[in-house]
Amino acid sequence: MVKETKYYDLLGVQPDATDDQLKKAYRRLALKLHPDKNPGDEEKADQFKSISQAYEVLADPKKRSLYDEGGEQAIKEGMSGGGGFHNPTDIFDMFFGGGRRNQGPPRGKDIVHQIKVTLEEMYVGTTKKLSLMKKILCAPCKGTGATKEGAVVKCKGCNGLGMVVRSRMIGPGMVQQMQSVCPACHGKKETIDSKYLCKNCKGEKVVREKKILEVHIDPGMKDEQQITFSGEGDQGPDLEPGDVIFVLDEQEHPVFKRARSDLHMNLELTLVEALCGFQKTIETLDKRTLFIKQEAGRVIKHGDRRSITAEGMPSPKNRFNKGQLIIHFDVKFPEEGFLSPDKLKLLEKALPPRVPVAQTAAMEEVNLQDYDADTAKRHHQYTDGYDSDDEMNGHGGSRMQCASQ
Ligand SMILES: [Zn+2]
Ligand SMILES: [Zn+2]
Repeated sequence: MVKETKYYDLLGVQPDATDDQLKKAYRRLALKLHPDKNPGDEEKADQFKSISQAYEVLADPKKRSLYDEGGEQAIKEGMSGGGGFHNPTDIFDMFFGGGRRNQGPPRGKDIVHQIKVTLEEMYVGTTKKLSLMKKILCAPCKGTGATKEGAVVKCKGCNGLGMVVRSRMIGPGMVQQMQSVCPACHGKKETIDSKYLCKNCKGEKVVREKKILEVHIDPGMKDEQQITFSGEGDQGPDLEPGDVIFVLDEQEHPVFKRARSDLHMNLELTLVEALCGFQKTIETLDKRTLFIKQEAGRVIKHGDRRSITAEGMPSPKNRFNKGQLIIHFDVKFPEEGFLSPDKLKLLEKALPPRVPVAQTAAMEEVNLQDYDADTAKRHHQYTDGYDSDDEMNGHGGSRMQCASQ
């Protein structure tokens, strides 16, 4: 039982979420809310910050148990000694294994895209063509912004700093200093002689271009696997382009559930099939049809499992090496009244005999009624309320814990 659920709610998971569920939830939301994807949208930027903080706490087992016990208050108190939350973009970068390299020329941002992949595509492999807009260095001016060498000069307005500081007297002996973007170069630190301004990029040095990337998805690749295109991020002058990273997002399949290299599926059997054998077909992810049969004589119980070798997911290293297909049987009983009482007697003769019970006068005969989960729940709430009211008289604080069970 956790004290509060705010951080879990922010990520849209239950308080008993596994690390994997937390990761998945954060990844989904972070890619959607990242400021790079929503320039100027302050609401999304705030949400991005909130989910990053929630993830930072819940991804760390120590912080998570602190939060579960003491809520947000405990986390804030724990941080008062220093530290505090990380920058949300740093959490994002750490999560995607990026993080900036500190040596060499400045590096552009990595761009992360999520791509939806069906289980069928993961099974057989596929190639997806994705088009994206990226900035490339302007070709006619070779990324200088001018058509003549020497036409780009350091801005005189700010001495190449991009910012100017203005001092203003606001009272006797009181000077206010204000820093602002240089109006002459608009922060670009240099100016270009208008005679030689490159017409293609209008002095911006870069132009936007549509780029098509082919993403190869090999058989057996996994959910959340990353495919990196080195240096395919935005280009810029004196900038080493970042990477474009695709993150695979495996879509749920209506029949098969994947667990590492194994596939799991449910198979419904009627009672007669469970008792007297059956023949069934299964369509595989690569559209083959498997035929399975169970001879009469073996009984399959509800919840029983059987496996088929090498019909699971292929291994990414060797596509011919496959996991198992595990079938979970779901036995459907016939509806009430499916057989007339005289036929039921015949059925009974065919089934193993029941154990007779002799009723005596000392026994209490009670009614067996249909069970209604909703009524049962209301009843529990009523009795819990009664118990906790009782406790309220003695020690007040424990009421919440009882009521929220
Ligand atoms: Zn300037
Ligand atoms: Zn140009």
